[in-house]
Amino acid sequence: MTADDGMGEVTDLLQQLIRNKCVNDGTVGSGHEVRSVETLSAYLAGPGVEIQRYEPAPGRGNLVMRIEGSDTSAPTLCYMGHIDVVPVDPAGWQRDPFAGDLVDGVVWGRGAIDMLCLTASMAVATKRLLGNGWRPRGTLIYLAVADEEALGTYGAQWLVDNEWDAVRCDMLITEFGGARLPIGSTPKLPIMVAEKGSHWTRLRVRGTPGHGSAPYKSDNAVVKLAEVVRRIAAYKPPTVMDDLWTGFIDGLDLPLAERTLLKTGPGLEVALGRMPVGIARLLHAATHTTFSPNVAQGGVKTNIIPDNADVAIDIRTLPGVNGEAVHAMLRDALGDLWSAVEVAEEGDNPASASPTDTDLWRALERVTDRLVPGAATVPMLLVGATDARFFRRKGVTAYGYGLFSDQIPFNEFGRMLHGNDERIDQASLRLMVDLWEGAARELLG
Ligand SMILES: [Zn+2]
Repeated sequence: MTADDGMGEVTDLLQQLIRNKCVNDGTVGSGHEVRSVETLSAYLAGPGVEIQRYEPAPGRGNLVMRIEGSDTSAPTLCYMGHIDVVPVDPAGWQRDPFAGDLVDGVVWGRGAIDMLCLTASMAVATKRLLGNGWRPRGTLIYLAVADEEALGTYGAQWLVDNEWDAVRCDMLITEFGGARLPIGSTPKLPIMVAEKGSHWTRLRVRGTPGHGSAPYKSDNAVVKLAEVVRRIAAYKPPTVMDDLWTGFIDGLDLPLAERTLLKTGPGLEVALGRMPVGIARLLHAATHTTFSPNVAQGGVKTNIIPDNADVAIDIRTLPGVNGEAVHAMLRDALGDLWSAVEVAEEGDNPASASPTDTDLWRALERVTDRLVPGAATVPMLLVGATDARFFRRKGVTAYGYGLFSDQIPFNEFGRMLHGNDERIDQASLRLMVDLWEGAARELLG
């Protein structure tokens, strides 16, 4: 351990990852994650350390490092961080998003929160364990992946599909969680145990072409589509309060009356109306399959009555909701118009969930309690998507977690995700290094 408790080391590594500028714009030619694979290899290298690299497409680098356990019957734990980041508009930033400036104990830059802080702190903890001559019973895998910010095609999904033996594990931790919820007097730290699925759908309506100069009684696809969009926007999907939701509400130790309110559909609706809209959106999305009509297209020329028009709907599904259930909800939303639409295209990426009655949960709870006395961990559903889904589908217990200081409360954390002025304080970085080291010792012996 260095004189500054390893804080300088994790800060330095994070700054290098930010400066590598592994921007993923969704095209295969972007990302260039090999740069950060190089940085991490150089950092982790040492006698007896074996590092595997995988490059499913030119520049799209992934890294796997293992500390082999002595007992093949003991569990394997994987720490997975992605090394790509989303694009920026520098005009909205107070600082150069790729300079990795350290100002008053805060590191600035794209990826500081999502999720290079975790990727860097996981590497530092792994190296610290190695340096201390740790000989665990179970195996620890450190995994740095490309392409999380698109679909994981050249990262986690590719590794799970093509190199399963290299990344096979029983437990996995990745983004997001551990930012303090602004509820109650003691810190409430969410562990993301599940994430919603997506069922992106493109609906098409047909009309009859004609001359735009004589629209009387015309069969106009754009006019029909407008009503389809209106009905989808007005649709109120059913409220679903499963064990995860009640576990989350119970974990917040709210006054009994409030807790009861949040555990019934009508009560939740009243409560959502009173909350700040940011948190209300999140809680609404956690209890509903949501429908957001986001792209509408139709017509080719101002003087032609259009004969077809499409709407692309971002549909996010709760655990257990399949394609059939989505169609049933769309039918409800559209009523008599359902027979007039065609499903032109639809994705199918189901939600994923892990149980909470696990050794992994208990270990994170114990280590958290040591590092943030008085804090409580609460199970939560992530309304977005992470690489954890590929592992959950293989039966791995996968959680999203981290440990943020009180300088990064949940609202601020949410605002910085893919936003401007992304930054993280060094106290959070230190908490994370200690968290990863402590959890690995607890779980792998
Ligand atoms: Zn991320």
